[in-house]
Amino acid sequence: MPLPGNDNILKLPVANFPTRFGHFKIYGFKEGSMEHMVLVKGDVSDKEHVPVRIHSQCITGDALGSLRCDCGIQLEHSLEYLGKQESGVLFYLGHEGRGIGLFNKIKAYELQDKGVDTVEANKQLGFDSDMRDYTIVADILRYFRIASIDLITNNPLKIDDLKKAGITVSQRIPLVVQPNEHNEFYLHTKKVKMNHIMG
Ligand SMILES: [Zn+2]
Repeated sequence: MPLPGNDNILKLPVANFPTRFGHFKIYGFKEGSMEHMVLVKGDVSDKEHVPVRIHSQCITGDALGSLRCDCGIQLEHSLEYLGKQESGVLFYLGHEGRGIGLFNKIKAYELQDKGVDTVEANKQLGFDSDMRDYTIVADILRYFRIASIDLITNNPLKIDDLKKAGITVSQRIPLVVQPNEHNEFYLHTKKVKMNHIMG
């Protein structure tokens, strides 16, 4: 079934999804060739202040324990938080490496090993620092008929993008992650070059 306002999205089946963080339902969505997962806790339709986390896939951080970024820890904190709430939504978007793909992400790491920061590395590879587009997120939130959300994020641009896409963001829930010696420079770049609010 296509989502209202976006004919390119196919809704895939939904299943029960027990996790060590709590019981969710898992939905699959397709956006062109990209696949997204959405975890939903409780009943979210027509609800206000639904806590929402938008996570972009980062295999190296989420699954391999990479300390080059803070994705894995952010994902775990978000799931822990959402698991304790009555209702909530976690988007797991197939935007590997901020939309540049896995191969290019490793190329960017190679440049970073030579002292280039993450934004500059993406530029040198011919990409914008952030290729993600949150239209799909807005469409899916509308699909679930969520009245308003509280966004778990340190990135004010995400709030602006969602508001522009017609979503009511009532509040920001900050996500606090302690830096480690490997990602300190990465987190600093996020703060200085990408307007992230840390904490
Ligand atoms: Zn990452």
